[in-house]
Amino acid sequence: MKLKITGCIKQKNRFLTNIEYIKGMEFYPEGKGGQLGDLGSVGEAQVLEVDRDGNLFLDREMKVGEYSYKISLDRRDEIGKNHTAQHLVSTYLKGKYDFDTVGFRMGEEYSTVDFPSLEIDEVKIRDLEVAINKMIMENLDVEVLSYTREKASQIECLRKTISDKIIGDIKVVKIGDFDLNACGGFHVKQTKDIGLFKIINYEKVKKTITRIYYKAGNRCYEDYYEKHEIIKKATTQLSSTVEEINGKIDQLFEENKSKTKELSSLYHNYSELLCEKLKENAEIVGENKIIIYKENDAITKFFPRFIEGEKYSLIYGENGSFTVISKAINCGELKENLEKLGYIVKGGGNSTRINLKIDINIEKIVDIFLKLL
Ligand SMILES: [Zn+2]
Repeated sequence: MKLKITGCIKQKNRFLTNIEYIKGMEFYPEGKGGQLGDLGSVGEAQVLEVDRDGNLFLDREMKVGEYSYKISLDRRDEIGKNHTAQHLVSTYLKGKYDFDTVGFRMGEEYSTVDFPSLEIDEVKIRDLEVAINKMIMENLDVEVLSYTREKASQIECLRKTISDKIIGDIKVVKIGDFDLNACGGFHVKQTKDIGLFKIINYEKVKKTITRIYYKAGNRCYEDYYEKHEIIKKATTQLSSTVEEINGKIDQLFEENKSKTKELSSLYHNYSELLCEKLKENAEIVGENKIIIYKENDAITKFFPRFIEGEKYSLIYGENGSFTVISKAINCGELKENLEKLGYIVKGGGNSTRINLKIDINIEKIVDIFLKLL
């Protein structure tokens, strides 16, 4: 296949390239009909994207001239599988529940189809998945028929009306006796070529729409492989069978909850003992008793419970994160003074308690605190 490059300009880190085809099929543009665009190569350059006007984004600068080019047909194949699967999904939901398709988007990992209904639930999703896989196994023929616009507009039972944007002959895709729909995208020749179909998620979007996420073809097998590996690892880590995994996880959550409770009670009791010691060793400055604790661990949250704010000022923390609790000074003023000294101070509080995020050590904070007494 041959094309002519007529221009090539740098755009950010890629090269927007204008082309004219000499011989061979055209690159399919990105996003047309919700479908992924083609990838491939032109001479030595890789095609990174094909824009809506058919221009190519290449990975390197190319001189004007004639080049051989390739389109990745394996990728087209995968796109065809995932796109044909969308026809099946749209037709099935239209036929069974009269839900119209209002959006379709194919990504590199998965595809989505949107339906204006909030009635799609777990049961319908499961039913849909089973039905699509059954249609794949039935191996329905997928034919692409070409009509003039006039002839096409006479066809009865088209799933969707033909868009005015389509110029020239209309391609109509016929899947068995099941679906008839105008479409210019890629499709498989028989439904068995899709291989497998799996809904990976569904969710409500924009208040009135349900979005279905699915994979088809090799993407399904890859997904199955990856998830199988994850489950295999989990069974080893949890020393369980696949069937036991959920039970084991529930059990771990329960154990974790009770351990956290137990630990909290221990922190509480330890904090009480520690606070007695800290009070004994408090620094006395005039009438003020100051406790300095150079850590920021789980027990500090119990300090206010055991250290009376009327009698003691408390300064604790480490690694740029500190708390000051005191009625001897205005804690807000402490923050202001640190800012006046040029430090970047985050955090906040009130006049008797303040949390400070600041890149200094505790001694500096104590220093400023003492000056405010
Ligand atoms: Zn199509």
